[in-house]
Amino acid sequence: MALLGDAAWGAGPGGGGTGLAMSGAYTLAGELVAAGGDHRTAFAQYEQQMRPGVAASQKQAKEAGPFLAPLTEKKLRQRNRAYRFLSKRLVAGVFVRLTERSANALKLKQYT
Ligand SMILES: Cc1cc2nc3c(=O)[nH]c(=O)nc-3n(C[C@H](O)[C@H](O)[C@H](O)COP(=O)(O)OP(=O)(O)OC[C@H]3O[C@@H](n4cnc5c(N)ncnc54)[C@H](O)[C@@H]3O)c2cc1C
Repeated sequence: MALLGDAAWGAGPGGGGTGLAMSGAYTLAGELVAAGGDHRTAFAQYEQQMRPGVAASQKQAKEAGPFLAPLTEKKLRQRNRAYRFLSKRLVAGVFVRLTERSANALKLKQYT
């Protein structure tokens, strides 16, 4: 049995779950074809290909989760103030770089 997407590694808020779900589907399909349908080999390769990017996303989500979904009213207000600040043109680039860090952590293999 193989798991994909959130069922496999639900990183949580800030972990780029959609990208992981899509690249996981691509990688699993690619490895099944590359292994000629031998699912034991394909599943092991799938795990090996995905794990580094998944680990990076989970690490980022651990840091981003409490910020994106805070538990107290005070922290919600702080987050909203931070959002307003981060939306300013000058600092928006930092936010984009943080997002891209996890989005680009996974290097997709080319399957022919
Ligand atoms: C509020 C919120 C904001 C998010 N923002 C982002 C974002 O900005 N960027 C990002 O990359 N990710 C984001 N995510 C995460 C992203 O949505 C998930 O990581 C992604 O949807 C996972 O895809 P999936 O296919 O694994 O699971 P899902 O999208 O959850 O799909 C699972 C599907 O299975 C169906 N299902 C469940 N049980 C059964 C059953 N027994 N039989 C049949 N069908 C069943 C469900 O109805 C659902 O349609 C966000 C998530 C939330 C909740």
